Amino acid sequence: MNKIKNGENYDIIIIGAGPAGCIAAHELANEFDVLVIDKGDLPQNKPCGSLLNEDSIDILKNWEDVSDILISPSFLTLGYIDFDNKITIKTKRQFWNTDRKRFSSWLLNRLPKNVTISSHTLFKDFEIVNDGIEVIVNRDSSLKLKTKYLIGADGTLSTVRRGISKIPPRRSTLYQVLVTGSEERNDFTWFVFDTSITNYYSWVIPKGDHTIIGTTIEGRSKRNMDLLLKKISEELKISTKVLKTEGHPATIIGNLDEIVLGTDNILLVGEAAGLISPSSFEGISYALQSGMMAAQAIRTESNSVIDTYRKLCNPICRRLSDQLEKSQIVSNREKRSEYLRSVISE
Ligand SMILES: Cc1cc2nc3c(=O)[nH]c(=O)nc-3n(C[C@H](O)[C@H](O)[C@H](O)COP(=O)(O)OP(=O)(O)OC[C@H]3O[C@@H](n4cnc5c(N)ncnc54)[C@H](O)[C@@H]3O)c2cc1C
Repeated sequence: MNKIKNGENYDIIIIGAGPAGCIAAHELANEFDVLVIDKGDLPQNKPCGSLLNEDSIDILKNWEDVSDILISPSFLTLGYIDFDNKITIKTKRQFWNTDRKRFSSWLLNRLPKNVTISSHTLFKDFEIVNDGIEVIVNRDSSLKLKTKYLIGADGTLSTVRRGISKIPPRRSTLYQVLVTGSEERNDFTWFVFDTSITNYYSWVIPKGDHTIIGTTIEGRSKRNMDLLLKKISEELKISTKVLKTEGHPATIIGNLDEIVLGTDNILLVGEAAGLISPSSFEGISYALQSGMMAAQAIRTESNSVIDTYRKLCNPICRRLSDQLEKSQIVSNREKRSEYLRSVISE
């Protein structure tokens, strides 16, 4: 990964090399000098279910061969288990099953060679100066860079967002355990509802020789995770010997006002903007779509890049609005029962 030097000047600096930052860099590299910085190791290896929905697939299938990012079983069909209402439903909806580190590596490898990427580089702050934006980097603020546009693709704990908005994103921690083995017929991913475990939902995702079981738990996490593992093990007849436990915060928006897309020449994309499904925590398609829209807004020569970006994001926000409605339905036991019964079963 490239070493950057004090005083360097870029057209665009992107903070964060997740899906949102990578796709924005990809879409801007032909026309601009782009720097991507990330505080962590690259490729990213973020705890994630790494299921890609149809919106992500639509974007990525235009990008050469995707077989490198798929993990067995490559396609998973969605099923719902509702322990509260004693309902199990298999739908026809499908996801691509990927490995997050391989996905990150794949995205980074597809960036044009003129994109400068700097890992282990912490974005600290920025300052608006006469002819652009000064970007301050590293724990000791030892590097100062210049840019015309700053893109905050720095995820749920976004520092860029804190610099431009007083609206704090609401967050919760998502926990996952990796357990040995998988179901005999393991081509299903299960979304699980059980209010004795969480008011949100839990998930079961087979990944090759192991299975991911994850959930959002406020407070008594050990007791609830143990209960979830017991119930899943009985229901799906899989071994739940824990290989690894991991957790990561995720943004959970309660209404569209919590989405912040930026100001002037500073744009927020992906989870930094609050773009993640409040009903399923599916965030990769929102990251990819908003990263593309931010790039398109910058490429379109207009007086106000932020206004163009906001307009381009309207369909994404409408999709989130539908997801917000859905999250209200699935968090209510009676309404959820009706909703699940309306889903086409096999
Ligand atoms: C447990 C879990 C399971 C999930 N499962 C799914 C799933 O199955 N499908 C799905 O679509 N979504 C899932 N999501 C959501 C998905 O992971 C995110 O929505 C998606 O990664 C957001 O992409 P992003 O590019 O906006 O941010 P991120 O992928 O979070 O990337 C942000 C990057 O910014 C870097 N960064 C942060 N701060 C700084 C800084 N100050 N300086 C420099 N770099 C910085 C970080 O190191 C990171 O690499 C899940 C999330 C969790 C936590």
